[in-house]
Amino acid sequence: MSLKYPLPRGTRDILPEEMPFWHHVEDTARSIFSAYNYQEIRTPIFELTELFERGIGDGTDIVEKEMYTFTDKGERRLTLRPEGTAPIARAYLQNGLGKKEPQSKLYYCGPMFRYERPQAGRYRQFYQIGVENIGNEHPFADAELISMGVHLFDEMGISGLSVTLNSVGCLVCRPVIEERLKQFLGSNLKHMCDDCNRRFSVNPLRILDCKNATCKTYRTAIPDIQESLCHGCSDHFSSVVEYIEALGIPFQINPQLVRGLDYYTRTAFEIVSDQLGAQNALCGGGRYDGLIQHLGGPATPAVGFAFGVDRAVMILKELSDILKQKNKLIYVAPIGASQQPRCFYLVDTLRRAGFKVEIDYSKDDIKYQLKQANKLGATRCIIYGDREFESDTVIIKNMVTTEQTTIPFDNVISFLSTHADTLPHTS
Ligand code: AMP
Repeated sequence: MSLKYPLPRGTRDILPEEMPFWHHVEDTARSIFSAYNYQEIRTPIFELTELFERGIGDGTDIVEKEMYTFTDKGERRLTLRPEGTAPIARAYLQNGLGKKEPQSKLYYCGPMFRYERPQAGRYRQFYQIGVENIGNEHPFADAELISMGVHLFDEMGISGLSVTLNSVGCLVCRPVIEERLKQFLGSNLKHMCDDCNRRFSVNPLRILDCKNATCKTYRTAIPDIQESLCHGCSDHFSSVVEYIEALGIPFQINPQLVRGLDYYTRTAFEIVSDQLGAQNALCGGGRYDGLIQHLGGPATPAVGFAFGVDRAVMILKELSDILKQKNKLIYVAPIGASQQPRCFYLVDTLRRAGFKVEIDYSKDDIKYQLKQANKLGATRCIIYGDREFESDTVIIKNMVTTEQTTIPFDNVISFLSTHADTLPHTS
């Protein structure tokens, strides 16, 4: 069938069969963020274009090539948000959050939009969950945030991750770092790609991020950013490293790690997975001490991260055990049409008690119903026919071991509540 109006390139439908993984990621994130006392914030999906141009930076790939920008009927230039930090910084200022509390610990969750070349793990509409700790300049805040990220993925059941760390300096030492890079690269620039040539004058640090194989060869002996950091940045970075070590988190320092957004200062970090292929970055973040002032507010330190939900789900789908544990479906099978009304009542009672229950009224033969129970991955099937009606009992079949137990009709809830494979989904 050729569809008349297919999906726009780089977008996709997320179907119900995938949804348990999304819920697992979102639920885990909410519970971990709550343990660290972060609160949710929701901002609009579109903002004034200038917020991103000024916030993320004119010379970045996002602003230059990737934004979905349009003019509305009132001639306003608007952009579908490509990331969450600039909108949160705007909301922080607009709602005077800094006046209410010395520190705002916020998290968000939702779709982002970037006009990138689609491939596995890279979409034009993708989903991010992110956190921002605004108002705290202590290196402990950076270390705590990185530790929270690692804790979060551990809790989700994602392993095989590595943390990479760097410091990209501040407004004081950045010009020194850039000048050293320029001196080092200057004579080789003519051999490097157009993007690197452009970045050389606009934002030389971004040259370190270029994936072009030829450009990479000219960076092998590049001077370490670390050597040009000012005392303040150098001390801050040493403390972050010390605290992360104290928490026992494995990490590497990558002196060439920079991020694709201009607002980063000092700490920059990434968490990558060996299970993701080419698009292996799962989570990225860092400190952005200049952004809020840059947007017209007072000087305010801040640190945050965002991770890709699509990519977390990609990893989790390989680990289907997580899903099995969550899908504790109970299937109720009335045998014969005359038993359907009592089963209808039983299903209602079980659902109100918090169990996840399925019943199919279209057929009442046992063979079909057991097949359906299997197909849906039910852990137990409750069978109720004429014989059970006579004795006021039900048969509970364990769909994994095939073992069958007969119990009084009124004991169904207490039976299911004492078996781990059938506990209510709310527990
Ligand atoms: P960034 O906002 O670029 O620092 O990205 C943070 C995380 O968002 C990345 O590590 C990815 O997991 C995810 N991400 C970024 N861009 C995309 C995309 N186009 N498609 C899917 N996930 C993305």
